[in-house]
Amino acid sequence: MKSSLEETLLSSIRNIPDYPKPGIMFRDITTLLGNAGAFRRSIDELVHPYAGLKVDKIAGIEARGFILGGAMAHQLSAGFIPIRKKGKLPHETVRVAYSLEYGLDEMEMHKDAVKEGEKVILVDDLIATGGTAQGAVKLLRQMGADIVAACFVIDLPDLGGRKKLEDLGVTVRTLVGFEGH
Ligand code: AMP
Repeated sequence: MKSSLEETLLSSIRNIPDYPKPGIMFRDITTLLGNAGAFRRSIDELVHPYAGLKVDKIAGIEARGFILGGAMAHQLSAGFIPIRKKGKLPHETVRVAYSLEYGLDEMEMHKDAVKEGEKVILVDDLIATGGTAQGAVKLLRQMGADIVAACFVIDLPDLGGRKKLEDLGVTVRTLVGFEGH
């Protein structure tokens, strides 16, 4: 019997306690990516609402967002935009500071990666506090992107990231949620 998407996701995501530091439960999607059926079903589910919408580009957040975003872009016949940690992109970039649990970091996107009015879907593996995704939304909007939605395999609702994006007027789509952090 075919299991539900939720069962498939819950059984294919590996939970690693106290990584990268004590008190954090790391939700490891490498096991999901290594499971052909779970990977395909996740991508199918992520793109499902946008088939036929003529999405121009998928923007993926380094690094796990690249893997999901590449597959989504292929399925939607869209282009792909890498959003990277500062200093990694070779051409002219726009840069934004974003909040991490402790302190700030910066991320960048090529200035010519998106054109005014293009329909873009943002993707990452997981949304926690929403700081990373919020930074990516700022970059994309700065260059005139029309953000159709932000998609994540995993939501940690207790950390409030979804709400933060929704307050910016971004539609958020997640496949599975875990309590706590
Ligand atoms: P945030 O900016 O707080 O929403 O954090 C999201 C980013 O950090 C994503 O790129 C995630 O891959 C990563 N992340 C945060 N918390 C976890 C966690 N518990 N397990 C796996 N990745 C996480």
